[in-house]
Amino acid sequence: MQDKLTLMTPGPTPVPEAVLKVMGCHPIGHRSREFEAIIQEISGQLRWLHQTSNDVLIITGSGTAAMEAAIVNTLKSKDRILCGDNGKFGERWVELARAYGLEVEVIRSPWGQPLDSEAFRVVLEADTEKLIKAVILTHSETSTGVINDLKSISKHVNSHGVALSIVDCVTSMGVVNVPIDVWGIDVVCSGSQKGYMMPPGLAFIAMSPRAWQYQENSTLPKFYFNLSFYRKTSIKNSSPFTPAINLYFALKEALTIMRQEGLESIFKRHDENSRAIQAAVKAMGLSLYACDGYRSPSVTAIQTIDFEAELLLSLMRNKLDILLANGQDHLKGRIFRIGHLGFVSNRDILTIVASMESVLHTIRPGKVVLGRGLAAAINELSSRTKD
Ligand SMILES: *Cc1c(COP(=O)(O)O)cnc(C)c1O
Repeated sequence: MQDKLTLMTPGPTPVPEAVLKVMGCHPIGHRSREFEAIIQEISGQLRWLHQTSNDVLIITGSGTAAMEAAIVNTLKSKDRILCGDNGKFGERWVELARAYGLEVEVIRSPWGQPLDSEAFRVVLEADTEKLIKAVILTHSETSTGVINDLKSISKHVNSHGVALSIVDCVTSMGVVNVPIDVWGIDVVCSGSQKGYMMPPGLAFIAMSPRAWQYQENSTLPKFYFNLSFYRKTSIKNSSPFTPAINLYFALKEALTIMRQEGLESIFKRHDENSRAIQAAVKAMGLSLYACDGYRSPSVTAIQTIDFEAELLLSLMRNKLDILLANGQDHLKGRIFRIGHLGFVSNRDILTIVASMESVLHTIRPGKVVLGRGLAAAINELSSRTKD
């Protein structure tokens, strides 16, 4: 049915009407007082969302723009870095770093498993000459639905004393607790189409004072992504180039909504929703791809066993107007993924579970007991509402 599409992908994510509406306003001059006031407000709210007093800068681009900016602004050609890789986005860090001529040592875990924080500790402790300049990883690995133990890994990086921590928090920012200052994370990347309840188009990068020291000495080529331009102008509530003005309107609105809900409530909602989906998936006789204890509250990956992922996805899309995501690379067809981050309520979870049950009833005849998944989701949600 037209105009009925519900996005349940791990980006792009649904956008509240209030956010969509302000995007329809006329653009205003980006050198105007009015726009400066918007930037000023946004800067404060971004620091609140990131739980940091560090600079949080905005780049026009998708999340990968922030990742690229993180690399080119902190490192030098041939610098040695340690990179965590347990999925598609970990791989992206490795490729990006190699594209800039960095010496990349990879700490790998199988897809579906978390990164081993002990492996980071061992390599970092062995580096007595302090040759490792950065430790780079993905917090919530969207391709597999795994959340890595960022707190422990950051602790090991801080004990090393020289290496910077650079983290892709694209599907953890605004979803799960990432206390940047408390954990001492140097560089944090995120993107608007994930937890921010916005359309794609803006990338965010938080930089610690130590990251700025590295920035001053970094020699990798950069111009549009040179963060020193962004820092200089942000002090004056401005931006170096023409910003995506209407997306800034959207950001201001989205951050206001998030602030009203409060960080604790946002984290709790994502936690509840993801647990309800997990309970429902198990009750429907399907298996979760990510290992127990490390399941991301933003995305759930489900194994397909005896049916075609494509069939499920197309029935969900064409009959029920719900868009889910396929697996990536070698997992295409072997898993499908449900995004439940950003503007997603308990009601959306009940809808998705009931819809999945109805589709599975069609494609796995005789193997689905109708109502079981939904009952599990309802029980999970109501047990959490009580406390
Ligand atoms: C979506 C996403 C990105 C950014 O991808 P873009 O398409 O550039 O926005 C990066 N890392 C993770 C973990 C993501 O989920």
